[in-house]
Amino acid sequence: MTGPTEVVRIPILPLGLVNAHLVVGAAGAVLVDAGLPDTERAVEKVLRFRGMNWSDIRLIVITHAHIDHAGNAARLRELTGAPVCAHEGDAQHYRQRERMTFCATGTFGRLFFRTGLIQRAYTPFEPDLLLKGEEVLDLAPYGIAGRVLPTPGHTCGSLSVVLHDGQALVGDLVSSGVLLGGIVMTGTSKSPPFEDDPHQVADELERLSSDGSTTFYMGHGGPLPKAEVLRHVGRLRTTSRRQGLN
Ligand SMILES: [Zn+2]
Ligand SMILES: [Zn+2]
Repeated sequence: MTGPTEVVRIPILPLGLVNAHLVVGAAGAVLVDAGLPDTERAVEKVLRFRGMNWSDIRLIVITHAHIDHAGNAARLRELTGAPVCAHEGDAQHYRQRERMTFCATGTFGRLFFRTGLIQRAYTPFEPDLLLKGEEVLDLAPYGIAGRVLPTPGHTCGSLSVVLHDGQALVGDLVSSGVLLGGIVMTGTSKSPPFEDDPHQVADELERLSSDGSTTFYMGHGGPLPKAEVLRHVGRLRTTSRRQGLN
């Protein structure tokens, strides 16, 4: 049985700089993204505030392998006992066996890359549910009316959580605000600091919009309405700026 679902932002860092999200249904919750290493207190605070415990998290979905989304997955799996769902496109990064590529989308990305923060290692883990190719995971068994589906482009193994009521959690497919994201101007879309393939990102955002997603929750800044996401798609289609850093 699935009922209404609520998306709750978890401030991994304040001001919308880095977000994880809790999708809360009648029978428990799905955690979308694990946040930076050692930030479990931020998740615990939101759970406590809602009168929930670690064991209320029934599934952890990791949108992609960047450290600000996957860095605390191993720890949160321990605390919750919940399985971790991810896509095989990023699996070697979750295992920490391969370095990621970082294609900067602008000056901030290039400067941020040089700090080395984004490339730091985190505790490796093997996802319990590894989606392959275009495989989709139905969230009904976890009490949520929605699906986890592959939306490659930011990284090749990027996933989104798409709810039947029009809410979508898209990781870093789109971002908003300034610098890393958040802070101010959170209603204005932009690309995250790094993005493997802007054209693929545009395709995926457009597909989600035409399939019924109306509100987009993101790892940095947000949330954004569909119209603003489509404005971003338009910009992605007219700019061709791919700059590999390694
Ligand atoms: Zn990312
Ligand atoms: Zn991110």
